[in-house]
Amino acid sequence: MKLNSEIIEKFYNILGKENVFTDRETLKHFDYDATERHFLPDIVITPENSKQISEVMKICYENEIYVTPQGGKTGLSGGCLPVKGGVVISFKKMNKIIEIDDKNLTAIIEPGVISADFQKAVKEKGLFFPPDPSSTVESTIGGNVAENAGYTRAVKYGVTKDYILGIEAVLPNGKIVKFGGKNIKDVTGYDVIRLLVGSEGTLAIITKIIVKLLPLPEYRKTLIGYFDNMKVAADFVANIFQHRIIPTAIEFMDKITMNAVENYLNIKLPEAETMILVEVDGNKASCEEDAEKIFSLYKKFGAKDVKVAKDEKEADRFWTIRREALPSLKAKGLDQLEADIVVPRYFLPDFVEKIHKLAENQPIEVATYGHAGDGNLHVTIMYHKSSFDELVSANELLKKYYIEAVKLGGSISGEHGIGITAAPYLNIQLGENEIELLKKIKKAFDEKGILNPGKIFDYEE
Ligand SMILES: Cc1cc2nc3c(=O)[nH]c(=O)nc-3n(C[C@H](O)[C@H](O)[C@H](O)COP(=O)(O)OP(=O)(O)OC[C@H]3O[C@@H](n4cnc5c(N)ncnc54)[C@H](O)[C@@H]3O)c2cc1C
Repeated sequence: MKLNSEIIEKFYNILGKENVFTDRETLKHFDYDATERHFLPDIVITPENSKQISEVMKICYENEIYVTPQGGKTGLSGGCLPVKGGVVISFKKMNKIIEIDDKNLTAIIEPGVISADFQKAVKEKGLFFPPDPSSTVESTIGGNVAENAGYTRAVKYGVTKDYILGIEAVLPNGKIVKFGGKNIKDVTGYDVIRLLVGSEGTLAIITKIIVKLLPLPEYRKTLIGYFDNMKVAADFVANIFQHRIIPTAIEFMDKITMNAVENYLNIKLPEAETMILVEVDGNKASCEEDAEKIFSLYKKFGAKDVKVAKDEKEADRFWTIRREALPSLKAKGLDQLEADIVVPRYFLPDFVEKIHKLAENQPIEVATYGHAGDGNLHVTIMYHKSSFDELVSANELLKKYYIEAVKLGGSISGEHGIGITAAPYLNIQLGENEIELLKKIKKAFDEKGILNPGKIFDYEE
């Protein structure tokens, strides 16, 4: 059913007029994410608490109105786009850090808290919340939980799901459910928390999150170096682990990405095939010792221009090179398809080689960068939309990349989610039985299919 004035009136009563928006000008602020696709919602609401969301959902459920949860709109798979219109729930006003408990090392937060704000708040207390995607200044904790976001530190600290102890959520029918709490251990019933984390806003609306915190590592050491051969770089990475060192991050960039960063930041990088950045953290003595070993490994494997950051400022400069990969590629002004593929870590160079081989003789440019430490690479296929041939080639190439990744035991999404962009390719990785089970789970939560429709399954342009 379409929204009508009677339903909008009910929303006004629940939320107050100041939290309900129907004018086109405002709606346009909520019609996109980082995929740069646009779908206009019919209405946007900015609730202030879970009770309001529950009341709204009861109405939407009864009237079969589509609802799409939306965080910071930094998603790279189109998860927060209202592809079928309806209501967008923005969590702008649910952005409170309710508690930071330094005795239990936990925090309770609302979903709209911006990642960077939470990072700052826990750091001020000498604590640490490792999950922190590079989109930190815009992404929300709710979005990170819904995407099970990864980040550069995942190689040592795991991903978002490893830090979620409790969740409050509103089901599509409006019922409020709570699972978990501050306990480190809890095996009561099914692990619904794990199911909701990474569910891309398709099962329930997350309204409160209890997270686990760690003590802030006292020290970090960051190194950067450049290799002429990606396979040698992979041996270098494998050797770090063989020396029983688990770095905080191991990041890489190929030549095309490096060139884009050079142009974007107006800097000169060494002439090389790949850049590898390594960071270790912990206590000062162990960091110094590990950094020394890693430095000699860079040298042993023939890396050039190897540098160990002298101070935090220099470490940040190294990180800027890596962090600006995505904006630099976007600044090339071409249309892009992005894949967020993960393969077993040691197969990364074989896969990168395959990627470039498949792109040979195509009127298309392909760049790769990402997390060498956990085998997660971001592939950017760049083409001119105005050219139908290029568009077709880009899409064919994307499909081939997914097939090759799965052949290597990899996955079609490491951290960005399936959303709409990877939905047409889900069956490359999952068989009929697996997809059937996922659909049954969706139905158990959302019988009428009103929550975040068109995502994960069966999206068609
Ligand atoms: C420059 C840049 C760098 C990035 N770096 C990383 C990175 O390092 N690692 C990484 O994993 N990703 C990265 N991303 C992708 C993106 O930032 C993450 O997926 C992030 O977690 C999305 O958060 P968001 O608040 O922007 O969510 P949105 O894009 O608004 O939404 C994402 C999904 O979450 C759902 N959602 C949002 N809030 C809720 C809620 N309260 N309840 C239920 N569902 C909800 C939405 O429906 C949608 O499906 C990057 C993106 C950009 C643009």
